[in-house]
Amino acid sequence: MDGVPFAAKDNLCASVGTTTAGSAMLRGYKSPIEASAIARLRERGAVLLGKTNMDEFGMGSHTRGVESLGGTTTNPTSANGARSSGGSSGGSAACVANGSVFYALGSDTGGSVRLPAAYCGTVGLKPTYGRVSRFGLVAYCSSLDTVGVLARTVRDAGVVLAGMQGEDALDATTVPRCEALDALATAFERDAFDASSNAFDADVDPDAPLRGVRVGVPEEYAVAELTQEVYDAWDATARLMESLGADIIRVSTPRARDALPCYYVLAPAEASSNLARYDGVRYGDLTSVVSREEFLNAGDFQTAIAKARTLGFGLETRRRVAVGAFALSSRRAAEYFEKAQIVRRLIANDFERTFRGPNAVDVLLTPTSTSTAPRLEDIESLSPATTYAADVMTTPASLAGVPAMSLPVGRSRVTRLPIGAQLIAPRFREASLVRIGAHLERRLFASRASYSTSSSASVSALDARGEAATARRDELVALISSEGVAVDDVIAANKELSRLEPVVEAYARVASLRAERRSLETLIRDADKDIADLAREELSDVESSIPDAELTLQTLFLPRDDADERGAILEVRAGAGGDEAALFASDLFRMYSLHARKRGWRFDVLHVSETDGRGVREASAEVLGDGAFGRLKFESGVHRVQRVPETETQGRVHTSTASVAVLPHAEEVDMDIRDEDVRVDTMRASGAGGQHVNTTNSAVRLTHAPTGIQVVIQDERSQHKNKAKAFSVLKSRLYDLERSKLAKERAELRSSLIGTGDRSERIRTYNFAQGRVKDHRLDGAASTTADVKALMDGFTLDDFTEALIKKRTEELLSLENGGHA
Ligand code: GLN
Repeated sequence: MDGVPFAAKDNLCASVGTTTAGSAMLRGYKSPIEASAIARLRERGAVLLGKTNMDEFGMGSHTRGVESLGGTTTNPTSANGARSSGGSSGGSAACVANGSVFYALGSDTGGSVRLPAAYCGTVGLKPTYGRVSRFGLVAYCSSLDTVGVLARTVRDAGVVLAGMQGEDALDATTVPRCEALDALATAFERDAFDASSNAFDADVDPDAPLRGVRVGVPEEYAVAELTQEVYDAWDATARLMESLGADIIRVSTPRARDALPCYYVLAPAEASSNLARYDGVRYGDLTSVVSREEFLNAGDFQTAIAKARTLGFGLETRRRVAVGAFALSSRRAAEYFEKAQIVRRLIANDFERTFRGPNAVDVLLTPTSTSTAPRLEDIESLSPATTYAADVMTTPASLAGVPAMSLPVGRSRVTRLPIGAQLIAPRFREASLVRIGAHLERRLFASRASYSTSSSASVSALDARGEAATARRDELVALISSEGVAVDDVIAANKELSRLEPVVEAYARVASLRAERRSLETLIRDADKDIADLAREELSDVESSIPDAELTLQTLFLPRDDADERGAILEVRAGAGGDEAALFASDLFRMYSLHARKRGWRFDVLHVSETDGRGVREASAEVLGDGAFGRLKFESGVHRVQRVPETETQGRVHTSTASVAVLPHAEEVDMDIRDEDVRVDTMRASGAGGQHVNTTNSAVRLTHAPTGIQVVIQDERSQHKNKAKAFSVLKSRLYDLERSKLAKERAELRSSLIGTGDRSERIRTYNFAQGRVKDHRLDGAASTTADVKALMDGFTLDDFTEALIKKRTEELLSLENGGHA
């Protein structure tokens, strides 16, 4: 530890520099004391390099610091820094992840060390409450606050924790040192330069170092918000532990669900009382924002304090103080604060039960976060309650007061962002957390080298499929050329071959690039310098082409929607906004008809119900042509328009909507409709002054009794033709119903997929006033087109479609790979 640089979160007082806890209230504050945690490390020769950014007073999950104190800390593992670094110790996690320091101190009240660790791909260790002195930590929620470590490895985290632990006369809640932890730390330091060494635990079987360890997997952590890739990484970690000899046991901690609401009553309550000291007089220096005179002239003392807090506290802090004061108020305390205390006890009991008795487990394994680091841009628009949900995996251990650690176990295949898993141990058992974590990371390290290209696990699965496809191709080729083969078999074989060929080709390309890489590597090792230099150049080219080639191969294995190749039934309906909505619906319908013409699809109008003006209430069409459904399906949803209606005299912009539904065209084989289920009515065609007015009974209405679906067709002059079309639409609707039932069953897989086809989902906004159209499912440049007119004339719809197809492919890939690296 001697001479090793570290950083500390800015809510830990240091005798050098300032301590602001991320608050304008404490800007420039020079602490007369030093936090015990920092002091102990510095006594051992550790070098404090600086303080790190945080959410004000630790209240937050994304390190969105006060603007004037440095602003938001972005995530160094995301290529363009557009992702959250987690919080509230995001500054500490980021500077470990980007290599500025070897480790950093953070504080963890409800997850503030573990969440940023998971988002930034570092280890984050939160000790048992009482393990490390809180003296000199700016109080947020005193009964939950702990000082934790962010480090590159579990071993480092263990060494640092050992360096800080133990009784402190300045914090009455501290406990004596844990000797097992000290012993581990000494062993880690001894073989500090050999991460593959097992020497810290020499007594165990090196192939099964976790033999006899009982790992509980609590099912309550499989919440609906958990993304597939995080779920899969969690699962893969359990399997990895099993392969190291551990017993994996399903356990239940039913109260874990209540942790989040319980935490968000208790934490603000204690915060409101802890923050009461900042009144701008006794605590908090606001002279840089408000003059002494102005402050004193505020009138009475209460007004002056209110002014100080308004200027000195950010929005979230003020919100917490208000919520906390409410929860503690004499009329509400029984309902909120006291209830929350009871729930907290129950949660602690839950954990105690799983760690005790005949079925006791040694550690629990859970995810650390529900997803990888979210986009900062996406967080902006979330309500406070939704941002609080980021802590759902971490608050239970905080409330139970038990130690927990997040360690990086994988990466998203698509975004390459890190994924963390959380180990939770019984009170004061940091040593077992660290020991188990260190064995786990030894194995993870072995494969970590492959992070930069692709994961060994998924590559080998990919290889297996490539090999299988190649073998099958050879088999089929042999079959076709064999003597006496039946014609039907040849036809079937050819059909299969045409599907396999692209896979075989893509796999051959991957294999040849890898072979080339191997021979270049040999050359670099063996040849003389000039040739080796040339080879090195070539190697970097080859290496950069490999991930692309693998991706191409993988895309070919993705599940395909059989309906994609079909034609489509398109339905447009005017939504909210009266005449203006009807005009917009009409514009959209026109856009699709022009687009279809451009793509060479047939566009047959089935039904148009017009309004008095130029608009349509609803319109439907049959779109026939290659892959029409596969492309148009992304149009399903609510389209929103913002423009000045022609009838608006004041020039005000109105917002109205139209909804679009796209169904796959059903062919004869898909649906059997029983005649007795359908009632057929013929009617006079409607439409005031429209082009289809006639006096014969040519409109047809079908009512499908079992489902209640109604179809009206009035377009053709002959009733016979209308009836045929009506049946075709009915079939499509029934087929779609079946499909959406199926889709619901697979809902957990599809939850993150774009274009779920939900007709109530708002997908696009057409802002005529600004001449822009934004698709809400896309990000960045692809999400916006600057030319509404070109789009409405059917020219640029393809740009959106392509971007949506690309995004969907990426999402499918990430589901396939489960993100485990
Ligand atoms: N996000 C949580 C909060 O805002 C956790 C904070 C923490 O652990 N310091 O309270």
